[in-house]
Amino acid sequence: MPTSLIIGAGMSGLSAARELARTGWTVTVIDKGRGVGGRMATRRLEQARADHGAQYFSAKTPAFQAYVQELLAEDVVNEWRLPDADHPRYIGRDGMSTVAKQLARDLDVRTGERAVNIEKTEAGCLVLTETGGRYEADSLLVTIPVPQALTLFNDSGLMLSDSEQAVLATIVYKPCLAVIVALNKPSRIPSPGILRFDEGPVSWVADNQQKGISPNQPSVTIHASHAFSQDHLEDDLNAVGRELIDQLPEFLPADAVATYQVHRWRYSQADQRHDESFLQINAPFPLLIGGDGFGMGNVEGAFQSGYEMAHWLMQKV
Ligand SMILES: Cc1cc2nc3c(=O)[nH]c(=O)nc-3n(C[C@H](O)[C@H](O)[C@H](O)COP(=O)(O)OP(=O)(O)OC[C@H]3O[C@@H](n4cnc5c(N)ncnc54)[C@H](O)[C@@H]3O)c2cc1C
Repeated sequence: MPTSLIIGAGMSGLSAARELARTGWTVTVIDKGRGVGGRMATRRLEQARADHGAQYFSAKTPAFQAYVQELLAEDVVNEWRLPDADHPRYIGRDGMSTVAKQLARDLDVRTGERAVNIEKTEAGCLVLTETGGRYEADSLLVTIPVPQALTLFNDSGLMLSDSEQAVLATIVYKPCLAVIVALNKPSRIPSPGILRFDEGPVSWVADNQQKGISPNQPSVTIHASHAFSQDHLEDDLNAVGRELIDQLPEFLPADAVATYQVHRWRYSQADQRHDESFLQINAPFPLLIGGDGFGMGNVEGAFQSGYEMAHWLMQKV
């Protein structure tokens, strides 16, 4: 059976792995993180839980809709009913990372493995990791944010053609500073627990207790606006967190804040993407790059990208 190595255990890499594995391929997924899910991230702070990356996802494409139906049946996701939503929005029952954990359940996923080099072998490729790991496969799928993939390709001496470089240069991600705040009493955010702002430093606030993922202690997630995140990306994170919390005195009284953490997402959402679901790189072995920078973007686009890469590979090999 063919073998494939996938770099990145976010939605895209896991979706590709799932498709390949269920047709009998031998698939290994490696990820530099401690857990799976990438930007579908959920954190604990005291007894609170908070989604600090993706907040919810939609399902408009048939393959993803079918998968979401499975997740609903298994009680892994819930529909999040938002007042102005023109289509259903879904959330992980215990946070967004639950969805990735479920996807990864029957897959061979190695975490704590940062890919640092890609080499050609007689049969395919060899990927080396920072810890000294060596992963060989016939084909390679790269599902990490494009700027990080370009660094990896460059460090590996993998030369891209002008047209490949031109495609990848069109993909742009915006940064986001995210604050998760554990509270010692409920927030004053009105039901259903979200605030959106078109102007100012804060763009989004979600009450994770009202969302249903933090039953033991109230918590909120604050996302800074694109402009604020860009301007303060390298600032002291503690001070940035304080400044963002202080924007919301009406909803988060000072005596309600128990503690907070700030996460710097250099690549949050891809707001300029390549039209196609992935790009095939001209290499001595099958090499595809995908993720949310390709196709429709976001969680659903990442799933779709992985799905399409897997099906392309199955037809070619
Ligand atoms: C703040 C924020 C808010 C968002 N809000 C929403 C939302 O509400 N709805 C929505 O649909 N989407 C949202 N998104 C976007 C969504 O999270 C992403 O589009 C999607 O999760 C991307 O999945 P992916 O698999 O393409 O990439 P990722 O999730 O980034 O997965 C890539 C993985 O690669 C790993 N990796 C990177 N480099 C290496 C390496 N060298 N070796 C090994 N592993 C490596 C990373 O650890 C990561 O796990 C949001 C994202 C952020 C950050």
